[in-house]
Amino acid sequence: MAEIRSVLARLDASFDPDSDVFDDHTDTAIRAFQQQRGLTVDGEVDEETWLALDASRWRLGSRALFHAIPHPLIGEDVRTLQERLLEMGYDVGRPDGVYAARTARSVGQFQREVGLAPDGSFGPQTMHALRRLGRKVVGGRPQWLREAEAFRQSGPHLLGKTVVIDPGHGGPDAGIVVPDGPLRWTESELTFDLASRLEGRLAGAGMRVHLTRGPHPSARIPDRDRAQLANDLHADLLISLHIDGYKTPEADGVSTYHYGDGTSDGVTSTVAERLAGLVQREIVARTGMRNCHTHAKTWDLLRLSRMPAVRVELGYLTSPLDRDRLVNPLFREQAIESIVAAVQRMYYPVENDVPTGSIDVRQLRMSLSGGLPVKA
Ligand SMILES: [Zn+2]
Repeated sequence: MAEIRSVLARLDASFDPDSDVFDDHTDTAIRAFQQQRGLTVDGEVDEETWLALDASRWRLGSRALFHAIPHPLIGEDVRTLQERLLEMGYDVGRPDGVYAARTARSVGQFQREVGLAPDGSFGPQTMHALRRLGRKVVGGRPQWLREAEAFRQSGPHLLGKTVVIDPGHGGPDAGIVVPDGPLRWTESELTFDLASRLEGRLAGAGMRVHLTRGPHPSARIPDRDRAQLANDLHADLLISLHIDGYKTPEADGVSTYHYGDGTSDGVTSTVAERLAGLVQREIVARTGMRNCHTHAKTWDLLRLSRMPAVRVELGYLTSPLDRDRLVNPLFREQAIESIVAAVQRMYYPVENDVPTGSIDVRQLRMSLSGGLPVKA
């Protein structure tokens, strides 16, 4: 009876487990519990009620979950997990709190997507991966599952991957333009410089690199053509580089964009969202720019490209603070190193990921030849 009371106390904060009589209060709590769970409401703790009470004490993460045969694990933790998987679009059926074959299969799918061994068991690594994804709800699942699966199957290294780098604007379309004494800073020239640096670094790490344009294109190149080029090249990644502008000098900071319709239950590319997050965090950590965060957008370049694609707005050319940074080649090199580190982290399996700012990208070739680095 003490055990029943302690379970009831956990379910209902107003319940006093130390009361030594099996009183009206206990009876009421049991009835409420039975009603909530769809059990026969009689205030009696029969086997069915006891099993339900026992199951209710498990919180997700408090024990390892796996598909046990013939007696499956039952509990609130299983139900919580099923609800999370359902939210993310996995086919777990009804969230019944029973860890049976369908739940194990969904966990396996999820594990594959995040780069874990798909054993269908829910242990600390899988819990960690679920937490990392946050509570973002993901719709349109099959498409993004395929994208994630293709990404995973391409293997945990940069060697031989194709990346398309897109320097924003160009030619007659200069993008943001800021006069500075006798000088004139333009977004299109700075993004081309950044793209060239990134090209050198990623090619040096063994990737196949293409730019969407040269330094002086004769005509404006629409984003849909840039996306098409990346599709035609069967690129593994598309990284678009822009610099922002605003009507007043106060706005500054870096932001990164990935495909998504921006609603809480909307469609998003999970792989691109992860890349955007890594790019954003590495740049903020390594350069100290203001963090203007990552955002989901349906822009042509992000929507029409068939690989994980991100667009970085590396500061505001209209901000004196950011402009001082951007015109400094050392800063541009630092920003590019941040993006290289983010791309490298994309290809580590989740369990091998490393803290932001910790990858020495000059050591990249060594880490490639020596296998994956050990988690710090
Ligand atoms: Zn731009």
